[in-house]
Amino acid sequence: MTRSLSVLGATGSVGASTLDLIRREHHKWRVVALTANCNSVELAKLAIEFNAEIAVVGDEAYLDELREALFGTNIKAAGGAQALCEAAARPVDISVAAIVGCAGLAPVMAAIEQGGTIALANKEALVSAGEVMTAAVAKHGATLLPVDSEHNAIFQCLQGNDIAEVRWITLTASGGPFREWTQAKLEAATPKQAVAHPNWDMGAKISVDSATMMNKGLEFIEAHHLFPVGLDRLRIVVHPQSVIHSMVEYRDGSTLAQLGPSDMKVPIASCLAWPKRMETGCEPLGLPAIGQLSFFAADEERFPATKLARDAVHAGGAAPATLNAANEVAVAAFLAGQIGFTRIAATVAQTLDRDIEAAPTTLEEVMAVDSRARVRAAEILEIA
Ligand code: NAD
Ligand code: MG
Repeated sequence: MTRSLSVLGATGSVGASTLDLIRREHHKWRVVALTANCNSVELAKLAIEFNAEIAVVGDEAYLDELREALFGTNIKAAGGAQALCEAAARPVDISVAAIVGCAGLAPVMAAIEQGGTIALANKEALVSAGEVMTAAVAKHGATLLPVDSEHNAIFQCLQGNDIAEVRWITLTASGGPFREWTQAKLEAATPKQAVAHPNWDMGAKISVDSATMMNKGLEFIEAHHLFPVGLDRLRIVVHPQSVIHSMVEYRDGSTLAQLGPSDMKVPIASCLAWPKRMETGCEPLGLPAIGQLSFFAADEERFPATKLARDAVHAGGAAPATLNAANEVAVAAFLAGQIGFTRIAATVAQTLDRDIEAAPTTLEEVMAVDSRARVRAAEILEIA
């Protein structure tokens, strides 16, 4: 029996890994929608290869190019924010949500409203929308499967267990490329150095988040929404080898961990095949070659982002959405060479340093909080 699938963010790193897996068992899948932001040529190529029903560019300026590239096929071409949501709302067995940033929120919500299964990579959407998204999942009977490797690990470690018996959930963090850098060196870190992650090959934004450790901060908030054990039961530990992807300790003292290669195909495959398994083509874990696993406490002096995220989720209200939006603006400014590395976390802190707005209760309210926080962060950075 074939299964249907849409990939939101098909041209990105997670999108490419997803389609690599689909390529392995092409005959089992029917591809419905593929989306991208502006890479219309690559999107068209993928849509033709997978014989998608529809290809959508988020940025409407690239629609003509997409149409041209799909000319002569019967693949529908569309563009713009509304078209992304319409494509995401096409009923499928599984939607892979792999757009980066809060830009992916409205399409994810459109997919959730169909009540299907969503493999969620787009952590920023869950961080910003929080209860708005989890309430929609419950209301529409959708299933949220975590793609993020840590959350996928936790999800696997919780299978067959009672979440009420959990003592700790420990998120592992690689520590990023600057784990051992001094503060002085961090001040001068360049975008090129920040995107060169030692263990993972990822998109630019998450690579910078990994370097600042904001990625782990966002993941802390993501874990809070996916696994409601209480904030005081969530911990972060630095584990530079990225072999253990996260752990769950139960009240009897048993700790379950999920291990695997640092390849997103493993957690993506776990979502695509869930509750079964599929081949990924990944190298088996060679433990003797890895030799040792090490663990450290996170250094929140040099990497204040995890604390900012923890404080934001404790503060509640609109703080997590504000944190995420400010971080997106600051990371973009850093990647554009407009600000230094350590100003990323500083900008997030400054954007949050005022009265916290009430928690948004609808998608529109989340988007409004997000917009206001972006304006504020840009003012702080004087790049408005
Ligand atoms: P990426 O930059 O490689 O790809 C992002 C995708 O989103 C691309 O297809 C791009 O065209 C699309 N996109 C970007 N901006 C858009 C917009 N405004 N509107 C519509 N589409 C847009 O990013 P990635 O590394 O694949 O990450 C995707 C998501 O998955 C992120 O939320 C990230 O945090 C999460 N994630 C990634 C990894 C990884 O290994 N790459 C691991 C865990 C979680
Ligand atoms: Mg992760």
